[in-house]
Amino acid sequence: MSKTTTKAPVRQSRAVLRRVEAGSSSVCGICEEPVKFAAKTQRSQVIANVYTDGKWTRVEHFHAECYADNGEIYGPATT
Ligand SMILES: [Zn+2]
Repeated sequence: MSKTTTKAPVRQSRAVLRRVEAGSSSVCGICEEPVKFAAKTQRSQVIANVYTDGKWTRVEHFHAECYADNGEIYGPATT
């Protein structure tokens, strides 16, 4: 791994929108309810990679609705 890449890493918190997968056991960081898979409703979740001072700290999960209702704290969720 001696090759340098031209792509600079993104060192800030960011969020992506994903389908909730079957078997998901995440808990929403806002309402603290489980982010559950439901085949009928095809719920979406927001997964945020949280960076503090340029260092990756943790991953947080949210219901898409909760995330939107709370001002997109880690920026707009990209798909
Ligand atoms: Zn929620």
